[in-house]
Amino acid sequence: MYVIDVGPQYEGERVRKGDFQVEFGGPDVNRKAELVTVKAMDEVEHDRITITGKDIKDFPEGSSIPLFIRIDMAGELLERDLEAVLERRIHQYINYIEGIFHMGQRSEIWIRMHKNSFKKGLDSLEHIGRILIDLFTAELPVIEKMSVEFITDPAKVEALLPAALTVYKERDEKVKGLRDEDVEEFYGCVLCQSFAPTHVCIITAERVSLCGAINWFDGRAAVKVDPEGAQFAIPKGNLIDAEGFSYDTVNQVVAERSMGETTRFNLHSALSYPHTSCGCFEGIVFYIPEVDGFGIVNRDFVGATVIGDPFSTLAGMASGGKQNEGYVGIGVQYLMSPKFLITDGGYNRVAWMPANLKEIAKENIPAEMFDKIATEKDVQNLDELVAFMQNAGRL
Ligand code: SF4
Ligand code: ZN
Repeated sequence: MYVIDVGPQYEGERVRKGDFQVEFGGPDVNRKAELVTVKAMDEVEHDRITITGKDIKDFPEGSSIPLFIRIDMAGELLERDLEAVLERRIHQYINYIEGIFHMGQRSEIWIRMHKNSFKKGLDSLEHIGRILIDLFTAELPVIEKMSVEFITDPAKVEALLPAALTVYKERDEKVKGLRDEDVEEFYGCVLCQSFAPTHVCIITAERVSLCGAINWFDGRAAVKVDPEGAQFAIPKGNLIDAEGFSYDTVNQVVAERSMGETTRFNLHSALSYPHTSCGCFEGIVFYIPEVDGFGIVNRDFVGATVIGDPFSTLAGMASGGKQNEGYVGIGVQYLMSPKFLITDGGYNRVAWMPANLKEIAKENIPAEMFDKIATEKDVQNLDELVAFMQNAGRL
């Protein structure tokens, strides 16, 4: 028996190091992911909860554990188009559970469970599965069948990962080629207001959400299935600043949904009226005044960036849901966007980024700029970056 409370009031909770019974995923664990798959009605056994590998109670206090959460769903009206949006709700619903926090998405999840909740009886992943099935099916009646499998066996998590990464990639590929100019609507999301009460995400054809989990197609699918949900449509309205990519209707909605905190977004700028950031960003763009250029860092980057701060310090500066000139949280796919920080000069303004991100963004970086952007392999600190930029003829 467990006596754990569940509800939106627990959404903003944090569980600190030293307070957790166990954590799944997070920076100390390489293999982790969550994946929702929509299947045919006869392929899903409703209410089935499986644990493959050890359970919460089998791990010593303070353990960091690999985890793959595999959720299958079926329903006459459910479409595969909805998978990304449904998957994002895992974040929301796990955070409803007293004493548990969930961060991140896809293959970057991090779940911590407080010792007090363990003492109150939350000692099995099965309880979490039960809560997830109850919440999902109550809030989204289109889900007629749902099963949840928690895999903690490290070898099995590893074996499942490649297929999940392929699915994430396919979702990202879908928006390639679609331009902001081609669509009539953008989408908004306020799911993260529980952590950052004035934060609003604007998702355009060329700007994936900063959590990386919701692109334009996902926004459209979400609005169709749950018009009252955290995602909503925004008629694009008029472009009131062609350089800043600022739209009147978008600004109105941002003002309303941020309770007046932010009244204007320049959708593709980190310097002027930048998009706000909650805390879920996959990457952060930060301005480096010494070189009048940007650094970019992603969550996986280990150690200090070129300015000496690690991701976690920069995350503290960028997050909180307030407009913060010089900082913007991004989804990694935004690096592939033709409008990537176009207002500020795009890649012509980027001074430093991790080598792996540079590889991901390769196709989108102008050929003549590629060797003029430093990575951790080229420079270790600000002085070296200044020298690198001078050598490259950029300063
Ligand atoms: Fe929604 Fe943005 Fe939070 Fe992603 S980061 S869940 S898009 S508010
Ligand atoms: Zn968030």
